[in-house]
Amino acid sequence: MQAQVLISEVGPRDGLQSVKATMPTANKLAWIDALHAAGLREIEVGSFVPARLLPQMADVAEVVRHARSLRGLTVMALVPNLRGAQAAVAAGVHKITLPVSASEAHSLANVRKTRAQMVDEVRQIVALRNELAPHVHVEAGLSTAFGCTLQGVVPEDDVVRLAVALAEAGADDIGLSDTTGMANPAQVRRLFSRVRAEIGAHTGAAHLHNTRGLGLANCLAAYDVGVRTFDSSQGGLGGCPYAPGASGNVVTEDLVFMFEAMGLPTGVDLEKLVHARTALQAGLPGEPIYGMTPEAGLTKGFVYADGRSPAHERLPATAAGART
Ligand code: ZN
Repeated sequence: MQAQVLISEVGPRDGLQSVKATMPTANKLAWIDALHAAGLREIEVGSFVPARLLPQMADVAEVVRHARSLRGLTVMALVPNLRGAQAAVAAGVHKITLPVSASEAHSLANVRKTRAQMVDEVRQIVALRNELAPHVHVEAGLSTAFGCTLQGVVPEDDVVRLAVALAEAGADDIGLSDTTGMANPAQVRRLFSRVRAEIGAHTGAAHLHNTRGLGLANCLAAYDVGVRTFDSSQGGLGGCPYAPGASGNVVTEDLVFMFEAMGLPTGVDLEKLVHARTALQAGLPGEPIYGMTPEAGLTKGFVYADGRSPAHERLPATAAGART
């Protein structure tokens, strides 16, 4: 059975760049291998930013090179600007994702550019892609689309207008990101619907965080209005340092469990996915990871959406939070 939802694993980028420690390259490669072995078919493997700003990502070109050898995997990387896009294309990524702030205040603070300047940047990246690497997919992710810690409320009209401008600039798809974990399901439903009404099939992924425990509810709301690509990270890696115990991204394990239990195939094997936590923890000893399904295990009599039964009744135990 074909996967009906695409889980885009962002842990090696969103997760690793928000923890203090730097995962050694060999561990990153082993972790990405394990994620791929679990059935994930799109992984954001890093970001092309100057190493002095984000030393955790200094090895991104090497990571891309390795990830390209994994069969059927879409290798994605974040780029902040044209220069990053040039490096990403040279390294051989399949997909570029560029964050564009929906909040003007966040845009200026984060990349020292206005939103209009970022739309221009996307236009130049699309031109570069068209000339050098027409097969590369260009995604723009509208960060702070659901609220901003600097500006507070982000008007929905601003988000819709920016999505239209980015589609006109040539981005293949435009996703919405709850960078700050402020979204609620009604808002997710409304905003994705409004964006889809304007840009149709260019509507991209839902990138939702679990800061206030609404990550899965927000994913389901997005699913209900037609979203089929979801960003998440293994173990919810990327917890906010100012909210102890609160995870960052939606937890991939829980998201896969939700869709599979609903009868929607993801192509991901939960046992192998939980096993991949071992590789993550080997590379980041002591870093807290989250997830309810890995703690509770699969439900008795669980079957995957494609009718397959799990190989074992219990999920593999992991080092931290091992179940007893
Ligand atoms: Zn994020």
